[in-house]
Amino acid sequence: MLSHNLAPAILLVFTSLTNAQRPAIMNGFAHDGRGKQFPNLDWAGLYTPLPQYEDWWKEVAHCAHVRPSMMRINSVQFYYVNAVDFAPRENGEHPKFVVGATYATFEQIYIAVRHITRPTTVKHEMMHQALFWARVRDWNSDERPEFKRCGLEMRSEDQPGAREL
Ligand SMILES: [Zn+2]
Repeated sequence: MLSHNLAPAILLVFTSLTNAQRPAIMNGFAHDGRGKQFPNLDWAGLYTPLPQYEDWWKEVAHCAHVRPSMMRINSVQFYYVNAVDFAPRENGEHPKFVVGATYATFEQIYIAVRHITRPTTVKHEMMHQALFWARVRDWNSDERPEFKRCGLEMRSEDQPGAREL
């Protein structure tokens, strides 16, 4: 069970992202009070997909049996979140802390900054996006068989206090 005894700080971020091509869909988040992972970085920001992401997209598509023509990987915007974990504001009264969140209809993926190089976390979120592109109705469900079959289940020991979304 996650600790909720600290009142989470609600952050409003992304207001300076006027240069982004599209508005950030997650326009604020809560964190648990442990502060920024990297003091020199903004709380969140758009980043260029890392070189290895291209291969990871291919692995995800192949494993999920999604045709390459359905993958719109160049449309996806990646945002880092500069905290150990985060809870998107729409989570409501009992925020669910996560290390990744995918807004597939908007083709935006948010990842806790320490996880942007972690294959399991990034490919897990890519899988949600790929399932959406493949018109899978419950693309947002971690109960989909593809996560287990492709080794993309999130392990709790990897991320104390956080789960993926
Ligand atoms: Zn998930």
